[in-house]
Amino acid sequence: ASAIGAELGEQVQRRLRSFGKASVLFYQEPIRMERAEGVYMFDVEGRRYLDLYNNVPSVGHSHPRIVEAIRRQVGMLNTHTRYLNDVVDAYAERLLATFPSEIGHLVLTCTGSEANDLALRIAKVATGRAGFIVTETAYHGNTAAVTDVSPSSRPGLLLPSHVRAVPAPEMFRNPVGDPGRRFADDVAAAIADLERSGVGFAGLLVDTIFSSDGVYAEPAGFLAPTIELVHEHQGVFIADEVQPGFGRTGAAMWGFARHGVVPDIVTMGKPMGNGFPMGGVALRAPLLDRFAADVKYFNTFGGNPVAAAAGLAVLDVIKDEGLLQNAREVGRHLMDGLLEIGNRRIQIGDVRGAGLFIGLELVIDRDSMEPAPELAITLINRLRQRGFLIGAAGPFGSTLKIRPPLCFGTDHADIFISACDEELRAIAPA
Ligand code: PMP
Repeated sequence: ASAIGAELGEQVQRRLRSFGKASVLFYQEPIRMERAEGVYMFDVEGRRYLDLYNNVPSVGHSHPRIVEAIRRQVGMLNTHTRYLNDVVDAYAERLLATFPSEIGHLVLTCTGSEANDLALRIAKVATGRAGFIVTETAYHGNTAAVTDVSPSSRPGLLLPSHVRAVPAPEMFRNPVGDPGRRFADDVAAAIADLERSGVGFAGLLVDTIFSSDGVYAEPAGFLAPTIELVHEHQGVFIADEVQPGFGRTGAAMWGFARHGVVPDIVTMGKPMGNGFPMGGVALRAPLLDRFAADVKYFNTFGGNPVAAAAGLAVLDVIKDEGLLQNAREVGRHLMDGLLEIGNRRIQIGDVRGAGLFIGLELVIDRDSMEPAPELAITLINRLRQRGFLIGAAGPFGSTLKIRPPLCFGTDHADIFISACDEELRAIAPA
C-alpha cells in the first residue's frame, strides 16, 4: 500500500473489507473513477483517461441520447414484463430486424450469462442431448451451467463430462494449414468423442471473435465449414455475440455475419444497453416454441420498458452516427499503426482483429514467439499511468485487448499508437 499512497491504500482496504477475496480491481495502482464522457473517463482528481478497454458503453460513455431515453422512460413506466408496452414491442421488432430472416424470436434477459444459460437449456431441449463444445480459453458467463462451459473460469480443473474444449482457431503460433479446416477437424473429433461417450452432441458455443482466447477474426468465413458440420450432426450452433455484437467488428451488426453463417441461437449482452444491464437470446422461432411448450421461462427485469428504451436508443445511435463505418475505418487505421510499430519492435508478435476489436500479441521476441505476460502487465500499468486504459486476454495473458468505444477517432488512435511505441521503447529498447 505504501507504493500507492496512503489515501488510495485506505480506499483499497475499504473495498476489501466489504468484498473480500472476490474483489476484482484493475491496475497496480487502482483508479478511483468518477465520471466518463464519450471516449474519456475521469478520476476523482479530474485526471483524464482515454478508454480503449470498455466495450459496454459501446456508443460512448454517458451518451446524451441514451441518458435521456432512460430518464424519460424511468419517469413514465418501469415495471416487470407482463404488460403490453409499445416501447418493448418496438424494440423487439427493431432488434430482430438486424438479424437474418431465419432468426425470428427473442427472449430478453439482464446479462450475457443469463442469455447463455438459457441458450444451453434450449439447445438441450431441441436435441435431447447434453454435450457442448467450446474453445479452450472460452468465457461465457457466471452461472453454474455456464461456468461448466467456460474453461477460463476454472483453470486447472478437469472439464465436466458433458463438455469438450477445442483449440481456438489461431494462426499465430500454429500457422500451418487453414484455421477453418483445422477448427472443423477439432470440432469433428469432439463431436465423435461426445457421441462415443453416450452424452451426445447438443451444440457448439463460440464467441465469434474468440476474445478470451486471444482475438481470432481472420480469415473472414473460416467458421463456415464448422457450422456445416454441426448441422450435419443435428447440433445447435450458439453464437455468443456478447463481445463482437452491436457493430464492433465494423463489418456488420453481428460477428457471425463476417463468417457468412446463420446461427441457430444468438446470445447478446454488454453493449446492448450501453451500460444499462441488458442481455438477450435471438433464435430460430421453432427452437423457442419447442422449449416454451415444456418450460415456463420468466425474467422479471429482462427487457423491461426502461431496458427497451435504452436498447432502442443504442440502435438509433449506431445508425445515426455511422458507428459501423467508424469502427471499420478507425479500426483499420489503429491496426495499421500498431502493425507499423510491430515492424520495429520485436516484442510485438502479432496484431490482429476486426473493426474496433484488436488483439496485440506480446512476445519475448518474434523468433521464439514465447508469450510475454509480464511485459503485458508492465505495459498496461505504464499506459494507465499515462492516461490510457487497456486490458489483456488469451491463454497466457499476453494478448493486449484493445476495444475502445465505437465513437473512437483516428486522432485518438494516433495518440495511443505513439504512447504504445514510446512505452515499449522505454521498457525494452529494441
Ligand atoms: N459471453 C462473453 C463472450 C463475455 O465476454 C461475457 C462477459 N465478459 C459474457 C458472455 C457474460 O456476460 P455477463 O457478464 O453480462 O453475464
